[in-house]
Amino acid sequence: MTEKLDELRIRLDQIDRRIVDSLAERQAVVGEVAKVKVDGATVLRDPKREEQLLRALSEYGKNAGVDRHFVRRLYREILDHSLRSQQVHLSGGDRASERTTVVVAYQGGEGSYSHLAATRHFEVHPANVVYEGKKSFDSMLQSVTEGESDFAILPIENTTAGSINESYDLLARMNLVIVGEEIQRVDHCLLAIDEVPLSHIRRVYSHPVALAQCGGFLSALRECHVEAFNDTALSAAKIKEDRDLSQAAIASAEAARLYDLKILRTHIADQKENYTRMVVVSRDPIELDPRIPAKTSLLFATRHEHGALASCLNILHEHGLNMTKLESRPRPNTPWEYIFYVDFEGRLDGVGTGSALQSLSSATGFLKVLGTYPSRIPKESEPAAIFAQSESPESSSAPRSGPAATRAAPARDGGSIRVKAGSPRAEEGEARIPVTKQPYRLASRVTRLKDTLIRFGDVELGGDVPVVIAGPCAVESREQIQNCAREVKEQGGAMLRGGCFKPRTSPYSFQGLGFEALDLLEEAGREFGLPIVTEVLHPADVARVAHQADFLQIGARNMQNFALLKEVGRIDRPVMLKRGLTATVDEWLQAAEYILAQGNQRVVLCERGIRTFEQATRNTLDLSAVVVARERTHLPIVVDPSHAVGVRRWIPTMAEASLAVGAHGVMLEIHPDPNSALSDGPQALTFQDFESLMKRLPYCVPPAASLG
Ligand code: PEP
Ligand code: MN
Repeated sequence: MTEKLDELRIRLDQIDRRIVDSLAERQAVVGEVAKVKVDGATVLRDPKREEQLLRALSEYGKNAGVDRHFVRRLYREILDHSLRSQQVHLSGGDRASERTTVVVAYQGGEGSYSHLAATRHFEVHPANVVYEGKKSFDSMLQSVTEGESDFAILPIENTTAGSINESYDLLARMNLVIVGEEIQRVDHCLLAIDEVPLSHIRRVYSHPVALAQCGGFLSALRECHVEAFNDTALSAAKIKEDRDLSQAAIASAEAARLYDLKILRTHIADQKENYTRMVVVSRDPIELDPRIPAKTSLLFATRHEHGALASCLNILHEHGLNMTKLESRPRPNTPWEYIFYVDFEGRLDGVGTGSALQSLSSATGFLKVLGTYPSRIPKESEPAAIFAQSESPESSSAPRSGPAATRAAPARDGGSIRVKAGSPRAEEGEARIPVTKQPYRLASRVTRLKDTLIRFGDVELGGDVPVVIAGPCAVESREQIQNCAREVKEQGGAMLRGGCFKPRTSPYSFQGLGFEALDLLEEAGREFGLPIVTEVLHPADVARVAHQADFLQIGARNMQNFALLKEVGRIDRPVMLKRGLTATVDEWLQAAEYILAQGNQRVVLCERGIRTFEQATRNTLDLSAVVVARERTHLPIVVDPSHAVGVRRWIPTMAEASLAVGAHGVMLEIHPDPNSALSDGPQALTFQDFESLMKRLPYCVPPAASLG
């Protein structure tokens, strides 16, 4: 008997080797097909032909005595694998093999669904792939930002549990690019250290979502506690370590294999069809061959206007973009406002996408493209003209002619295109008007007739009510900033300013108290109910300053610091752009365009005086620039007479003049004791000066002091 069994096993081993050899042979032919496709116009996938192939093979299997469904399942895997390897080839992935190792981060332990999806996604990657489990989504994405990992796989939605909010919020906050997606089947099993009857199980560990998904099964287990754990695989590792026969974990079958556990039950989720969609993120976009069916993800915040969301969705519709997902999340620090996440079929450099995104840019308050990447969900209804050819044996050897091939020829001029996420203007060639004749578009009145309104809580900047922003040049101490905040509030000012990072002409002058000052400014703003504005000097500080400040200032000296402009363009925070000391109005508007072009539409211009031959004032306040800019742009404009004039006694008059010529607000430096100020003392208004000025300004909100 054992002899017979041994002999049969040897035969099975031989057959298995032949199967693997055949797969290898097939894989080699797929490689050849990919090479042919690189130079040809053939596109990657034809779901109809694929379906024909599957049908033919399952029929062949049936005749040969193999279960039809089994053949079909097997071939879905095989076709999927060869499609992925062709995609890697077409995307220049082979060149990635020049890098010997790439690090892929995932959340949880080995055998978690994220880990399974990551291994599936990267199995065709030509480089040596190292997988690293991370504790949280946040630390995982941080490791990509910091260059420790090359990719991370982030679960974004589940077909039964819905959207994963934390993931959406992280995508909004971090400057990473989506370069791929993966659909992971979730098939929960109950695991234990040995084959024990279910009635012996007293405690079940798993991720809270997995526990919720198996609610029906768990409620039938009597006298059994459920306990939430960080992740499914780690719960498997825990019961392995505890070696307690009364414990069980809910995890994948793969986790059972990895941790050498027994599977007590399979398919225990309430809903049998359970999938998680994950996105693969990286620091840089990937090269995407035009023949790969792609998807694009973006997020935007609507403007505070009637019907704003509907008009944004209409823009996508009018440009023929098919939206596959719409999700909303609360906008951070802005109660009752929302960020919308949209996925649509197509690519950034696709027909109509560029102009759709341009229109969307000016219709939204903030727009960020998260990435263009190969789509994982095949769309069966796609016309064959778009997906012309599968790599099925018969089609790969077919001559590339005839109507299907001709129709399929995609516009391949330029070959694969590097798509930079983050920029709504991906198509260089699309604008018909030469770029030199269009130095700015999004900032222009031509693009948007209506004035842009920017809200900070109850304060509206850009409307009919002038806004007064006041505070010290620099935050010097808690007492100083608290006194200033109280004064601003009592006199009816709308916003508190205070420098934390000071751009000083001499390196020996007071440079500001940095983040310590920002904490004090934030505290004072919160205590007196005033939004805060402060200058950010360095691109690396933008995210952190934006986390605490309501309004970011780009100083005059940085008006053309393009790296800084781009960085503030990628975050969802209003920006005040000061006019450079020697900048023309048009240069100023082009600098604003740098911010707008990155997606952030909430830009306020600030005239703060320019350098002229005149020495009597610190700078020359150019009020005509306000008139000109109001005509050329829809963006709000404020005037800072303090830095323009530099002499205390002339500032109030120029503040009044600023509002008279149409500025939407003024920004003033005040100090409890200007003589002791660490910077710009001569131009700081005393509290008394400020009070009498506030009485003269046409200001609609009565001072808080007179309210009671
Ligand atoms: C300021 O407002 O603190 C400042 C430094 O202004 P500017 O950049 O206009 O000189
Ligand atoms: Mn100053």
